[in-house]
Amino acid sequence: MKHRGKVSLVGAGPGDPGLISVYGMDCLSRADAVVYDYLSNDELLCHCKPDCKCIYVGKQAGRHAYSQDQINEILVREAFENQYVVRLKGGDPFVFGRGGEEAMALLGKGIKFEIVPGVTAAVAGLAYAGIPLTHRGVSSEASLITGHETAGKQDSDINWELLGRSTGTLTFYMGVRNLPKIVDRLTAHGRPGDTPTAVIQWGTLNHQKTAQGTLQSIVEKCASEGISSPAIIVVGKVVALREQLRWFDNRPLSGRRVVVTRSRDSASSLSRELKRRGAAVVEFPTIEIIPFEDLGELRAAISRVGDYAWIVFTSKHSVRIFMSELANQGKDSRWLSGVMIASIGSETAKRLGERGIIPDLIPERQTSEGLLEAFTSANIGVDGMRVLIPGSELSRGVVFEGLSKKGAQPHMIPIYANRTPEYTADQIDEAFSGPPDIVTFTSSSTVKNTLSILRAHGREDLIPRLGGACIGPVTAATAAREGITICVEPTRPSIHELADSIEQFFLRKESS
Ligand code: SAH
Repeated sequence: MKHRGKVSLVGAGPGDPGLISVYGMDCLSRADAVVYDYLSNDELLCHCKPDCKCIYVGKQAGRHAYSQDQINEILVREAFENQYVVRLKGGDPFVFGRGGEEAMALLGKGIKFEIVPGVTAAVAGLAYAGIPLTHRGVSSEASLITGHETAGKQDSDINWELLGRSTGTLTFYMGVRNLPKIVDRLTAHGRPGDTPTAVIQWGTLNHQKTAQGTLQSIVEKCASEGISSPAIIVVGKVVALREQLRWFDNRPLSGRRVVVTRSRDSASSLSRELKRRGAAVVEFPTIEIIPFEDLGELRAAISRVGDYAWIVFTSKHSVRIFMSELANQGKDSRWLSGVMIASIGSETAKRLGERGIIPDLIPERQTSEGLLEAFTSANIGVDGMRVLIPGSELSRGVVFEGLSKKGAQPHMIPIYANRTPEYTADQIDEAFSGPPDIVTFTSSSTVKNTLSILRAHGREDLIPRLGGACIGPVTAATAAREGITICVEPTRPSIHELADSIEQFFLRKESS
């Protein structure tokens, strides 16, 4: 008998990756293959095993990449080829998700399956818009309806008469294009024209947009606010509760688009801070960190680390690469016990802390100059001492020169390179046309690389329109020299303070 794997049809929730169930996440982390959709958030895929095969079968209204039959065939094929397959679907697999059809196809081939429910778009979209699906004394029933059916057709499966008479909450999926017909049908069957109505686009994501009005006014409102698919239409008195219960799309950075230019592995902490405050974050990494393959010099320095009085870590990348080399040698942080450690950079000390190392010197000003000042103000003599500085090939020579002047013997070892990633004209357009409300720069390299990417594509025109949020004075000076308007510069260079200052900047802007 042919081998057959098992398939889990997993609901991913409607957008916010945090809305997948704990069990759904567990399924993803075990899968050998994942077959996923346009409406499931692909951020979730980073929870898969590194060798998991990810197959996109994206369907977009009117632009089906694959027919349902083809998707069924892919699922069956993957189940024959793998032990365990996850079919990741937007929202809930059994709510307008054709999960039933997929399960039938698996059943027909004798393939075992399970269904893992997800939060469906109507439930989650309404919650994030501040509209209770039901509310005591306001609405005691709710319907999930397809808006895809031509609302005017004679043999409609939808009981419009009942919906017109109902006083409960109606939610329509896939209905934006048919909105005028849906409104006509409901009003023709008795639903009053002043019934509160809303349309929620991209529910649960930070770029969620909601148009709110009445049955009569909603078509006009959607047109003027540019609402399109995917969106949930909600009709009923509960919509009015949004005035009081709105909580998600009125956070400090809601409606603001922020471009994050840090390297992809560094971006997450800043992106998280900004998203938490409501911003729609566009990650546009301008730096790729590439550890050197040949770390012989570092290896030698580690093996005789006792020769050094100090190690200066200038970035979290230095910490990561240094520590992994230490581990490769079968050593842990105890090996560094006799050496003093200094740290500069917004997250460097934190990364050291995660390895059980509390730096002996963290300057007030987290710059190279700040570090030199800190040696002086703390009265730490380094005369004749060897200082190890494992860092980027681009590291500014400031620490090296400053320590030399103090009589030390600094030893700078380049352990990683910074590269500028390639972008297409479309990707540049998507990130920078508009323009974004703010662009974050967390080092001088992010400034220089952003500009070199724009210039390489002949898009110098975008530069004077950029508002920069710079982590510290050196970065801000570089940005200002390059003609970028500096809107935000926190007093202390940390990711948290940068996000706070961006929030303050927009608050001030709103109130002025
Ligand atoms: N199985 C999905 C629905 C798929 S049908 C679920 O349970 O949510 C596709 C429709 O779902 C879209 O046309 C739109 O009406 C709705 N939808 C899906 N994701 C959405 C989102 N993030 N915001 C608003 N509507 C969404």
